[in-house]
Amino acid sequence: MTYLFDDPKSFPADAVEGLVAAHPEELLQVHGGVVRKNATPAGQPALVVGGGSGHYPAFAGWVGPGFAHGAPCGNIFSSPSSDQVYSVARNAENGGGVILGFGHYAGDVLHFGVAAEKLRAEGIDVRIVAVSDDVASGQTGEHRDRRGIAGDLPVFKIAGAAIQAGADLEEAERLAWKANDATRSLGVAFDGCTLPGADDALFHVPEGKMAIGLGIHGEPGIDETPMPSAAELAEVLVDGVLKETPELDSERVAVVLNGLGTVKYEEMFVVWKHAAQLLADAGLTVVRPEVGEHVTSLDMAGLSLTVMRLDDELEQLWLAPADTPAFRRGGTVGGDRGEERGELYSPGEDPIPEATEESRESARTITSILGEVESLLVELEPELGRMDAVAGDGDHGQGMVLGIRAAHATAQRAAENGAGARTVLVQAGASWSADAGGTSGALWGAALTSLGSAFSDDTAVDDEQLLTGLVQAVEAVERLGRAKPGDKTMVDAAVPFRESLAEAQGSGSSAADAVAAAAAKATAAAEDTADIAATMGRARNHGDKSVGTPDPGAISFSKIVTLLGEQLSA
Ligand code: ADP
Ligand code: MG
Repeated sequence: MTYLFDDPKSFPADAVEGLVAAHPEELLQVHGGVVRKNATPAGQPALVVGGGSGHYPAFAGWVGPGFAHGAPCGNIFSSPSSDQVYSVARNAENGGGVILGFGHYAGDVLHFGVAAEKLRAEGIDVRIVAVSDDVASGQTGEHRDRRGIAGDLPVFKIAGAAIQAGADLEEAERLAWKANDATRSLGVAFDGCTLPGADDALFHVPEGKMAIGLGIHGEPGIDETPMPSAAELAEVLVDGVLKETPELDSERVAVVLNGLGTVKYEEMFVVWKHAAQLLADAGLTVVRPEVGEHVTSLDMAGLSLTVMRLDDELEQLWLAPADTPAFRRGGTVGGDRGEERGELYSPGEDPIPEATEESRESARTITSILGEVESLLVELEPELGRMDAVAGDGDHGQGMVLGIRAAHATAQRAAENGAGARTVLVQAGASWSADAGGTSGALWGAALTSLGSAFSDDTAVDDEQLLTGLVQAVEAVERLGRAKPGDKTMVDAAVPFRESLAEAQGSGSSAADAVAAAAAKATAAAEDTADIAATMGRARNHGDKSVGTPDPGAISFSKIVTLLGEQLSA
């Protein structure tokens, strides 16, 4: 969907006006498109790249030093008119001739061609470079007849960098074609895109399917397959792009994983994780990859992968600085990136202090109880998620499972490496909060760590330590979260639990009995939270919605301490 527009007909022009207003120091609007704010240096060739609108950052986002000099901006998905191309080229040209660059489509060939004729008639030297990277759109051996997609980015980047480095028109044209001939792309789409003001997409990909090789304007693809996982998609893209080896058969490659408009950056990164591995497996060295939106199609759901083979001169130009609204490279803060790092800290590598055999025995018991809690939380995950979804964000079950899983694994590892009771729990707590995230993750992590700090690596855990530790753990949750009973959080269950344990301390009853009795209080209190509205945590924003549903954090707390009581008496 395109949500925001005024008059759909003036959308492209309105967008250009806004783009220039957003980059007043860099861009200047002229008839037909944009040019650099400052004049092209005298005698320098001008790189003028364009195509239809709807593809931002292509093409106007690439105007600036090290890249393009100007960009004519056509209507959505249609070539700029020859008069637009001419106007932008005239304004960009300053005695060094012009390269007109565009993706290889019939309309662009015509309009840019007509503009070139007119410029030549005026004595301006003009070269034309039509990018043709899309392997889905033509035969091997007829590379220059294909259509252009995200290969526009590296091809024009190379030409712009060459010009910046002093290339004349002839040389810049040679490098642009060399870059184009070394570049292959393949795209896929999961759904079409909607023009401003239109009620429905230009086209649709059938639900649950992926179209392979679909062009950036919905041109037909070569295949349709069931929707893949990210890993499967990476394979389709890498295999498809590497099927052909261009004449420049190098192992160093510039790579662009390009989002077409609706695929989120995180999704692209998941795909890239796999693609990077597959490219490495194919023996290629990726040089400065670009993962992001570079050549979009309005809100089209899809991706493309572009691989350009690099020799020394292309690599140097690919890496050269550029400074445009949408593409910046070089000029790191402070001049360079500093020294390479030495050793890295990773969790789980904390030193394990000496422990006695008695304490290690307790550590093994703690680890096995954590294992039981893990099974319990896995079972409760859907229910806790549903409760959290009523007024929160639905992730409580998931967060608790992530937390306990990490805590249990860390405890196991520490216990195997000889840790005592204290160290096992302190480290397990750190892992819980590291992996679970969320409010409950931080609080449970602190609770475990606080419980552990009541234990010792020298002695077995005794009843007194256990009760002290549990009281301390609840106090840590109260201190950190600052919730009070009645706020509808886990504290509503934890405080009655703590109070009950405090009473049992010194009364002579066993820790197992004390915990079981306290857990019963916690369970009743947790159930009672159904009657009140949340005033703390995420759920407070939807407080009233939560009436009728108990607090998920209070429920998970009561279930965990109930299990603990059972485990202690077993
Ligand atoms: P998030 O709220 O970050 O999504 P979870 O969904 O895992 O985290 O946990 C939600 C639970 O956290 C709530 O049900 C509530 O019991 C507990 N909680 C939220 N805020 C607090 C707080 N300030 N003190 C104690 N517990 C809290
Ligand atoms: Mg939540």
